[in-house]
Amino acid sequence: MTTQSNSRWIDLRSDTVTQPTEAMRQAMFTADVGDDVWGEDPTVIRLQQVLAERAGLEAGLFLPSGTQSNLVALLTHCGRGDEYIVGQQAHTYRYEGGGAAALGGIQPQPLPMTEFGGLDLHDVEKAIKPDDCHFARTRLLCLENTVHGKVLPLDYLAQASEVAQEYGLQRHLDGARIFNAVMALGCKLTDISQHFDTVSICLSKGLGAPVGSVLLGPVDFIEQARRWRKVTGGGMRQAGILAAAGLHALDHHVERLADDHRRARLLAERLQAAGYSVATPQTNILFVDSSELPRTALAQWLDRHGIKADCLGRDNIRLVTHLDVSDADIDRAAEVFTEFLREHRL
Ligand SMILES: *Cc1c(COP(=O)(O)O)cnc(C)c1O
Repeated sequence: MTTQSNSRWIDLRSDTVTQPTEAMRQAMFTADVGDDVWGEDPTVIRLQQVLAERAGLEAGLFLPSGTQSNLVALLTHCGRGDEYIVGQQAHTYRYEGGGAAALGGIQPQPLPMTEFGGLDLHDVEKAIKPDDCHFARTRLLCLENTVHGKVLPLDYLAQASEVAQEYGLQRHLDGARIFNAVMALGCKLTDISQHFDTVSICLSKGLGAPVGSVLLGPVDFIEQARRWRKVTGGGMRQAGILAAAGLHALDHHVERLADDHRRARLLAERLQAAGYSVATPQTNILFVDSSELPRTALAQWLDRHGIKADCLGRDNIRLVTHLDVSDADIDRAAEVFTEFLREHRL
């Protein structure tokens, strides 16, 4: 097998690595813009309205990143000395630099995650603190969907929502990849969003926009969130250039997520057939069990053969399909992985 020298990399590290398409660049190029801090950017306003409407929520706020969107949501839902209940491996707990605690005096209450990526609702009930000065005030239940590529079942969302409401908790969804869940379930966005007070959606993951997330919720919540956006770094001015990419993605890159899911499944099947241990993916993310493999050798092999993969985990390699991964790329990646086992007589 020849090494990959001149041809381009197949980048399976994340769905954030996509290049804006020509059509998306064109939409950005021709976008009507204004000063969004003055509320005068028509394209930003349209993006916020379009997504809010699709999610059945009142209003939206455009932010530079999913991390800032979640942080602003936490700062708006919770005050100093409040807490939010969250999964141990959730992005809003583990992967956002402890922002809510660092900047908001907000305490997370992390809980172990179930096999399907949710929180056990009995655990949630037990974690809700009584109204007593010994405890932080439990304000918010925070879920994630999709979570490490898994889709939370709709009936689970309904049950979680019921528990939260029974105890007077607000409900936030980190829906960075919510459209992957929508496509995997074949449902409407509202089938998921109806169970939450606020939802954060990334445009720069599978949707393929270069930048941007939108936080959705009630009008008064979004007005408060706008203040927190200012505090956490300010507003963006002619941000319609970026919002135009998001609008383009919503029109052209949602349905096609089904292709990413099909390719992820195909890759998983090819790797399983080759002898790898891989769980069949529900969406565009698959994990190859690398606990029994010579990890360093495999990482070097992939690199040498033009495959970029996230080999940082101790026990698995994460592979993600996206807009810039074709059927031929899947074929090639499967071949490189297969050849590795053959070469190393594993
Ligand atoms: C990527 C991601 C985020 C954060 O988005 P950034 O734009 O990278 O800050 C939040 N939550 C989940 C589940 C994500 O995958």
